Amino acid sequence: MRIPIDREQATPLYEQIAAFLRQSILSGSLAPETRLPATRQLAQDLGVSRITVENAYAALESDGLVARRAGSGTHVLPQDLLLPRQSGGSMEWPLWQRDALDAVQFTQAATGEDGDTVHPNLISFTGFGDPRMFPIAEFLKALKDVIYRDGYACMEFGDMRGYPPLRATIAHVLASQGVQTHPDNILITSGSQQALALIAQALLKPGDTVLVESPTYDGALDLFRAHQLKLIGCPADAHGMQVEQLEPLLQQHHPKLIYTIPNFQNPSGACLSLARRRQLIALAGRYNIPLLEDDFVGELRYEGRVQPALKALDPGGRVMYVGTFSKLLMPGLRIGFVVAEGPIYERLVQLKRVNDLATSTLIQRGLEVYISVGRYHAHVRRSSQVYRKRRDALVAAIQRYLPAGVHLVVPQGGLFVWARLPDGMSAARLLTLARAAGVEYAPGARFFVQTADGESYMRLNFATQTVEDIGEGVRRLGQAFNQLSQQR
Ligand code: PMP
Repeated sequence: MRIPIDREQATPLYEQIAAFLRQSILSGSLAPETRLPATRQLAQDLGVSRITVENAYAALESDGLVARRAGSGTHVLPQDLLLPRQSGGSMEWPLWQRDALDAVQFTQAATGEDGDTVHPNLISFTGFGDPRMFPIAEFLKALKDVIYRDGYACMEFGDMRGYPPLRATIAHVLASQGVQTHPDNILITSGSQQALALIAQALLKPGDTVLVESPTYDGALDLFRAHQLKLIGCPADAHGMQVEQLEPLLQQHHPKLIYTIPNFQNPSGACLSLARRRQLIALAGRYNIPLLEDDFVGELRYEGRVQPALKALDPGGRVMYVGTFSKLLMPGLRIGFVVAEGPIYERLVQLKRVNDLATSTLIQRGLEVYISVGRYHAHVRRSSQVYRKRRDALVAAIQRYLPAGVHLVVPQGGLFVWARLPDGMSAARLLTLARAAGVEYAPGARFFVQTADGESYMRLNFATQTVEDIGEGVRRLGQAFNQLSQQR
């Protein structure tokens, strides 16, 4: 144990040791039943006599903080009163800590306001996929199999670009979706969030402009804000980004990157039309702007015609395609990937190395054993069947319980229904009442560059709740609407 002691101080060494341990016990960082180091060992580690350590332990014992047990050493005793943990906002923090907080304003992580009364059985329409559908048992088996099969190799760093057989499987899955690529153009990342971050690092510097759909994924907005980038929103409608309005924005703002989620967008659920896809590729080419295509749930289609990925329309090197196993399998895997060609690919590999060296080899190997192209598609089919029913249940419940002025476009796939509230009602104010009534959703402001633009929108995730809970959740939401109307 490393205890800081100061031999120059007037305070005797045994008291310094006792004071440090006392603080650790009372703050809870040394938990009850923890065994303190043997006196001989601690004396040796700290370069003090054994008597000094024994005196320190005796002082703690007389304070009732530890007990000596014959044959098993000195143990921490449970304490009734623990010291409060040092909290933020204290004036004792060095100045730079306060500057760290001021640097960038992110959207709030929590969905509601602090101090909201929250119903004990909250039905949440936030989140992404349904954890009850995670293939836990099969994945456990895959992990065991791979440890037996590959032994120590599972615990090494492995190829910086990602485990080659997993890259090959991803290339096959993508080929089945009409994206032709080679495993050497795939870089495995820690979730697709890291792919977005690496691309931002590779291509952008503070003050550069990124063009995004308005609204768009809040985690991307926050990422770009963290890089001190300027954000320009291009309006979107039921068919995705209004690419017809793009050209003047490109001429005026000279963005260095266009970020788009063409399929079942987060948060709007919209799908970019084919004509707009072609036009977007053409504009990106004409204005020499890289396109970042985030295809986080492209496979979760419930009806309608499939659209080609932008990557599939790319005449060469214009589109960086980002995908993930988070939404269809399990977000905790933290496995995403980027497909890119040309010098940018090598740059991304270098940045991956300097950021975190590699994504867990064990998890990549386990995933490779678990996932085959056939299994992937079976999972997509199963999730689509379940989620389609839930989408229908949500839409039906909205029609039944919510006021007619609530406007939505039924999404053809994905995870979200995006709804506009009647008469400029505030989704944030409604949320406070909704949480008290036992239901929550993601209020719209966080998905906009200018948060005020999103005040009367809400995003409802239908994938995480059962059909019964969806009905009950929307019924509760209806109550909150009534209350809010009465307050106005
Ligand atoms: N893109 C979109 C549109 C998302 O909604 C998310 C997360 N929810 C991500 C990327 C990042 O997900 P992950 O890192 O788990 O792949």
